[in-house]
Amino acid sequence: MFRKIIAVIAFSCGAISVAAQGLPTDAPLTIRPLVQQLGETLLKGKQGSIVAIRPETGEILCLATNSPQGPNVSLAIAKAYAPGSTFKTAQALAMLSEGVITDEMKIECSGSFLDGNIRVNCHKHSSPLSLKEALAYSCNTWFLQTFASMINDEFMYESRDEAVDTWRDYMRSMGLGGPLIIDMPGEMGGLLANSNYLNRRYKNGWDGKTIIWAGMGQGDVTMTPLQMCNLAVTIANKGEYHVPHIYKDTKEHPLAKRFKERRHTKVSPKAYKPVIEGMRMAVESGTAEKINTPKYKICGKTGTIENPGRDHSAFIGFAPMGHPKIAVAVYIENGGFGADMAAPIASLIIEMYLKGKLSEQSEQLAEKLADKRLFK
Ligand SMILES: [Zn+2]
Repeated sequence: MFRKIIAVIAFSCGAISVAAQGLPTDAPLTIRPLVQQLGETLLKGKQGSIVAIRPETGEILCLATNSPQGPNVSLAIAKAYAPGSTFKTAQALAMLSEGVITDEMKIECSGSFLDGNIRVNCHKHSSPLSLKEALAYSCNTWFLQTFASMINDEFMYESRDEAVDTWRDYMRSMGLGGPLIIDMPGEMGGLLANSNYLNRRYKNGWDGKTIIWAGMGQGDVTMTPLQMCNLAVTIANKGEYHVPHIYKDTKEHPLAKRFKERRHTKVSPKAYKPVIEGMRMAVESGTAEKINTPKYKICGKTGTIENPGRDHSAFIGFAPMGHPKIAVAVYIENGGFGADMAAPIASLIIEMYLKGKLSEQSEQLAEKLADKRLFK
């Protein structure tokens, strides 16, 4: 099974063999067969990816993809998507670190964001909302307004160029917007707007409103499901990560030093607490409450990504809250609401890894999800 997976992945990434990277084909992999198998089953009839990583080490536990062309298209590492509202976690971390927002401030939202001819609806929630509530109920007004005001803040930044480049530096430090350079070929970078890019793209000028969509993970920001999972890792570890890898570190095949080093994000360590609490609230009583379980505490963030067809369904999260053992990202193209498909798939992956099996109820859910075919 291990060999099959790596062969499939290597094939999909331009037929670059494992041996071509100087890695012996008999080196053990970090993939957990039960979790991988479940991931492949859940992706039946769907185009998308499931990535799971052990936060403590960066070991890739599951790397499942599927598409109408078959499972040998490695969308998990080779396709960059708009992360949608899963990105609000990273936005909150950057803006808390900069002091643009605080975890105590409250913002009014009447149920949708309105600005000129722009209207973006929210899930049902109370008003005004704190940051934790904005994460739990995925308030668009909260994140669109605060991001635009950060970019337009003339007191804090000398120019908009400086504001957007500062924002981008935080995101890059979380491993977003560029390849993580894992031990597999074919990895894609993604897009994170910076001043050079924006000055080239918007020749007549730009401001916070021009790039406002990035506040909710759409527009000038894309990333791979692998990077989304790594974002969940950095949150689970409160600011640290190892470069994800698919090869085990063994005496016979020791990993390169770069995979053993801890990387640090630029995010203020204090920023993680409210974001983690907001992600917990999302599962306890917010947009992902369907996956709440008394077995362990899952922290997560849903994403529903607009695109020309049916919405994409996304989720990032980790568990258990106190001592995270697994971080997950699920991205299902045209899967609808994040809570409908990506979140329950992630919850099953978490259960399989933490418990080694699924409960009877979860087996039924897995069957139901596997039967949902978006293509034949
Ligand atoms: Zn709202």
